[in-house]
Amino acid sequence: MNIFKKNSVPKICPKCGGKVVKIIYGEPTEELFEASDRGKVILGGCCIAVDENGNQISPEYGCIDCEERF
Ligand SMILES: [Zn+2]
Repeated sequence: MNIFKKNSVPKICPKCGGKVVKIIYGEPTEELFEASDRGKVILGGCCIAVDENGNQISPEYGCIDCEERF
């Protein structure tokens, strides 16, 4: 269930109150690994899901504490 619209991403996780950050897809660079270590981004892996129109359907944001994805 996704109760969030794309243009209204929460800054704080509604589940645990943790910080919500952007999920980065693709092969991560060292910079991205560092950013991930500091809790600035979540690394989503190299696989990104798209629909038949080429629109991204993988979650764009996630909670760094409970890993809830939006
Ligand atoms: Zn959370």
